Amino acid sequence: MKHLLLTTIAAVLLGASTVEVFGEEKRQKQIASSNKELTGSTNGGTVFVTLVSHFDRPWTMSSKDLAALQTLTKNHPKVRWTHLFNPVSYTTPTPLLENIETFLKESQKKYFAEIGVHLHMYQTFVEGAGVEFRIKPSVSAKQAKGSFDRSGYSVPMSAYTGEEILRMLDFTLAQFKSRGFGVPKTFCAGFYTTSLELQNKIALKGFTSSAAAFPPGKEVGSQYAPSWHELAGWDTSVTIRSVPYRISKTTILPTGTQPFIQTVDGNPLVEIPQNCKIDWMVTAEDMKMIINHHVQFAKKGKSTAVCLAIHEGSADRYFTKFNDVLEYVDNLSENRNVQVKVQYATVSQVRAKFIEYWK
Ligand SMILES: [Zn+2]
Repeated sequence: MKHLLLTTIAAVLLGASTVEVFGEEKRQKQIASSNKELTGSTNGGTVFVTLVSHFDRPWTMSSKDLAALQTLTKNHPKVRWTHLFNPVSYTTPTPLLENIETFLKESQKKYFAEIGVHLHMYQTFVEGAGVEFRIKPSVSAKQAKGSFDRSGYSVPMSAYTGEEILRMLDFTLAQFKSRGFGVPKTFCAGFYTTSLELQNKIALKGFTSSAAAFPPGKEVGSQYAPSWHELAGWDTSVTIRSVPYRISKTTILPTGTQPFIQTVDGNPLVEIPQNCKIDWMVTAEDMKMIINHHVQFAKKGKSTAVCLAIHEGSADRYFTKFNDVLEYVDNLSENRNVQVKVQYATVSQVRAKFIEYWK
């Protein structure tokens, strides 16, 4: 009797876990097949789709936002996220910190996400790194002259000296290491602002990709404030059609030529243009239209990459928009009539592919 009862319990447990295992197996198979495609050889004509999350104000993230990111991940298991995490989470009290860390690590382990870095020049972060805090200029003003932001949020990182930048990068790397996130490879400063000096410093500190090139034009979607255009470092050579490029030693723009900024792995620092702009600026239709431009480009035989971007604090608000666009990409990636390969990849995976193509 006792034995029968145990057997029944075991059968019930086994039954329950078998269902789980089938779900898990299916997911693992999907992931494995997606990785296989990525490592396979292609002779051009691939559209890589990257999806980056920006952690701007981790303390404002709600459980609904976290759930939105989790649901996007579950609904679209082929996505290879690049989470641009912000170490300000360790200098400003962040209520959901533990849940955020758990999500990021699960993303890394189960869904092959990359964890990169996003920095805004908040007082707690800047001072935590042992650097004197600045409140000017601001990229969110009518003009750069006389502009300021007491929170530091809109102050470009490029307003700091090279030595200060190095200290902030060292502080960031130490935080990532102590929290078990490994060594980050992809970097993006707040508001996509950068400079030749900042690009040189990130390469010096082990980063290999920059996710900063941002289209300043109004061809598609909204734009940043006027002072951003003066301070961000970008010009109209960056567009929604831009493709990944090696960063020159003489300019951060896509028009640059060799010699390129070298990184720790002996290959150049690569820019993955943020050609789909960011969540609040674009509609789902805008993003699909940009993806279509890149599909047309790839039909001519060359590879390219599009980058979708969502903020942590508005993940719930923009869930439907991104879920819709990702479904569109999922369909493109499975549709043989598209003629080109459409494939999700992290920023670092895109860089690795392009380094092969450039050889
Ligand atoms: Zn940001």
